[in-house]
Amino acid sequence: MSANDPIIAGEQQFTSGLYPKRPLAIVRGIGARLYDADGRAYIDCVGGQGAANLGHCHPAVVAAIQAQASTLLSCPEIFYNDQRAAYLAELAAALPFPARIFLCNSGAEAVEAGLKFARLLSGRRAIVATMRGFHGRTMGALSATWEPKYREPFAPLVPEFTHVPYGDSERLAEAVAETTAAVLLEPVQGEGGVRPAPAGYLAAARRICDEQGALLLVDEVQTGFARTGRLFAIEHSGVVPDVLILAKSIAAGLPMGAVAIHTRHGPLPGGAHGSTFGGNPLLCAAARAALRAYQEEDLPHQAEAKGAWLLERLRALPLPAVREVRGLGLLVGLELKSRVQPFLQALLERGVLALPAGPNVLRLLPPLVITYEELETVVASIADVLG
Ligand SMILES: *Cc1c(COP(=O)(O)O)cnc(C)c1O
Repeated sequence: MSANDPIIAGEQQFTSGLYPKRPLAIVRGIGARLYDADGRAYIDCVGGQGAANLGHCHPAVVAAIQAQASTLLSCPEIFYNDQRAAYLAELAAALPFPARIFLCNSGAEAVEAGLKFARLLSGRRAIVATMRGFHGRTMGALSATWEPKYREPFAPLVPEFTHVPYGDSERLAEAVAETTAAVLLEPVQGEGGVRPAPAGYLAAARRICDEQGALLLVDEVQTGFARTGRLFAIEHSGVVPDVLILAKSIAAGLPMGAVAIHTRHGPLPGGAHGSTFGGNPLLCAAARAALRAYQEEDLPHQAEAKGAWLLERLRALPLPAVREVRGLGLLVGLELKSRVQPFLQALLERGVLALPAGPNVLRLLPPLVITYEELETVVASIADVLG
């Protein structure tokens, strides 16, 4: 009998039922390796669904959490706090534009805040989002999300959201008007199938927003924190957004989100929004250690080099089951000619954990600290399963 079995049975009895789970109990992780309850090792290309860019249990983050855990765990933003003050300054210095920052607890929450700020700052209501875009599961973020199977059971959603084809500047220009509060998009669509923005698209979105007086909201929940080869994916384009939305790998795996608002908009009106846990000192301490590690270990460059290597290796394989290999940095997708699910199971049996991105895209989202040796094993397993 496997030591995974009692964990699986115990969790099955009381879990919500919302998640299609894999028959595996993960109990420990280090770097890009995860271990199940039997001690079997897996190469992690799920990367905490984007929250583990820094790898599992990075020693500097673990030390920061341990130190802060015995100092102060709770401090709402009605008070100032040393860790929060330091993190705000350090994150602001790392952003590609001058910003004020709202801290919260997840990606969906950061998107919600971004949408509310867009309405506050513009005095308008309408939001233009993109087809295949994913922004989270709460009612506002869900209204911006495109996938009908996520949306339809919960209609009616928030009014005045429209969706245009991603990557098509003309259709975007037609959709944005004097009544548009904001355009919301991802620099690379993650859940929507790993689709990098075509060249010039983000710059066109910036110009269209400027012409109509709308805000540009960029959702970097999945692409942020070195994933695509820059600390923030928007830096590839040089485009400056009004609002940058962050979460997932911000605090090396702990639940945290942030919304950066360009200083040209000034401070937000007092009391307009808030969060009990926002700016929590434990999370700020973890996020500080994480940001320092992204910078000191040059993880943007590592993601760029390893991602280019991985794309080249995958494209050179004879893979008759694959229609296209695409990506940016270490956000890599293989579009298959059939459903991805059986291939995820076959990879798991070979000790490689990977993700879907829609029904027929295999997504690789490894921690950026993954070694070339581990990547070789991933490539060999993919060749084996899809060859
Ligand atoms: C995951 C994701 C979200 C939602 O984040 P949660 O923390 O799961 O709420 C929003 N936007 C993008 C682009 C994402 O990938």
